[in-house]
Amino acid sequence: MNYIDPHIHMVSRITDDYVRMSRAGCVAVSEPAFWAGFDRGSAEAFRDYFRQLTEFEPKRAAQFGIHHLCWLCINAKEAENVALSREVISIIPQFLDRPGVLGIGEIGLNKNTKNEATVFLEHVELAMKTDELILVHTPHLEDKFKGTRMILDMLKSDRRINPQRVLIDHVEEHTIQPALDAGFWVGMTLYPVTKCTPDRAVDMVERYGTDRIMANSAGDWGNSNPMNMPDFIRALRARGHNEATIRKIVYDNPLRFFSQAKRFNFPAPIISL
Ligand SMILES: [Zn+2]
Repeated sequence: MNYIDPHIHMVSRITDDYVRMSRAGCVAVSEPAFWAGFDRGSAEAFRDYFRQLTEFEPKRAAQFGIHHLCWLCINAKEAENVALSREVISIIPQFLDRPGVLGIGEIGLNKNTKNEATVFLEHVELAMKTDELILVHTPHLEDKFKGTRMILDMLKSDRRINPQRVLIDHVEEHTIQPALDAGFWVGMTLYPVTKCTPDRAVDMVERYGTDRIMANSAGDWGNSNPMNMPDFIRALRARGHNEATIRKIVYDNPLRFFSQAKRFNFPAPIISL
């Protein structure tokens, strides 16, 4: 089955990953801007990274029949440095008109600090001014519940925000419901150990349905696996879900969300069920 991985950091993956993903049916990926595995030294390093995301990586993906889309921001791990973050935020508009840029992301919180919240809100301000979609990273493990609640409170208190244009990512059993109830899209991240396994993601589909929900591998520098999307498809089949339901979650839903972006340029039509 054709699928989309709506959150994966391909710059941290080897070319063989593209080969395996393509063979397994991956037709598109979206790559949020993220940490480099180390803190970058200057805003110019982010300019180079944004060029990599918008120039080089789409060409590398295209060699394997995979359409590459991306998101721009300074991530929460580096947002503790507010001065650097402001410099980076000021150069993002220079890249927003590039083909395949879906919006601002993945912004959010990491350790739920005041500085992270300041930088999060300044990104939201940019997204509102430029009418961009938003992709939100929610924190890990012990910081997740509190951080998700802080993020949802900040977003819900801004009347300009249309929740249909915001994806709350890395949801788990204890955070999915408030995000869906507030009208946001949600992403379940399929990690080998933390976050959510394919079987736990199937549990959440069975509990919360298939509207405004998608799954991703969030493959990056750490312990992660781009082949978790095919594993998730197999897990859905093993639990008796039909092909139309599976396709809605792994293909139609990401496309439906992305198609709201100004520069959405995926060539295949959205299949409506
Ligand atoms: Zn990520």
